[in-house]
Amino acid sequence: MVSITETLREKKVLVADGGWGTLLIAAGMQAGECPELWNVDHPDVVRRIAEDYINAGSDIISTNSFGGTRCKLDAFGLGDRAAELNEAAARLSREAAGPDMHVLASIGPSGKFLITGEISEDALYEAFKEQAQALERGGADACIVETFSAIDEACTAIRAVKENTALEIICSFTYASTAGGTPRTMMGVTPAEMAAACLEAGADGLGANCSFGSEDMVAVVRALREAAPEAPILVNPNAGQPVQSENGIVYPETPEFMAGFVPRLIEAGANIVGGCCGTTPEHICAIRAEVNKHLH
Ligand SMILES: [Zn+2]
Repeated sequence: MVSITETLREKKVLVADGGWGTLLIAAGMQAGECPELWNVDHPDVVRRIAEDYINAGSDIISTNSFGGTRCKLDAFGLGDRAAELNEAAARLSREAAGPDMHVLASIGPSGKFLITGEISEDALYEAFKEQAQALERGGADACIVETFSAIDEACTAIRAVKENTALEIICSFTYASTAGGTPRTMMGVTPAEMAAACLEAGADGLGANCSFGSEDMVAVVRALREAAPEAPILVNPNAGQPVQSENGIVYPETPEFMAGFVPRLIEAGANIVGGCCGTTPEHICAIRAEVNKHLH
């Protein structure tokens, strides 16, 4: 199939999907459960989440594999099932997507830091390689190395995907603050530093996800676009900063509010717009409608 980069040359702006954790919790997932285990224990629920996003207007669907490295699954005693759980994740999204739509498989951080020596670069590389190969076997055509904050870990993941699969790679960081006007990750990395390192390691596209609501993401996208004039740029904001209410964590931004920032995100340089934590098919539906206006 054609790559996301090639699709973007024709379509200019694509719509990604929204949060998965939010919907798994709504479907009954309890705190402390392993989300990736739902790929084999509750496949119908996971496939329906993908279908709901596709019906809402996503051009690109992700997978339920954010915590799917062996390192993360070990915390649930499931490390040895990493290949099975990731392959199932990609297969479910591919079943929902059909043969022609992009399945952008999710690869999240390992939860371990190279800088502290708690994991070796070789072990980290092998964990990402195992996950990426399983996602490709399951039917993904691309992957998003997402919610990273450290350059060394992200570049290890990018190399592991690049050297062992044919998956196209978008690398997306999460930013912790914009103190002093420059967005930085919790490891102190700026969008310009991230862009240079990830492209050098072999990423095909760049992105920013989680972090903030839509408004604060405009500056992050602009900084990425300045650093990488040609690269596809994805932005998946949260539905605002989470607030604690009597009913648990609530994300305050409505679909209409988020969609209102789509023109500014596109103007800043975004080519792929979706959502992260707290966003739902309703948010994607509103973003889709706004992107459609822009395409005409
Ligand atoms: Zn998020």
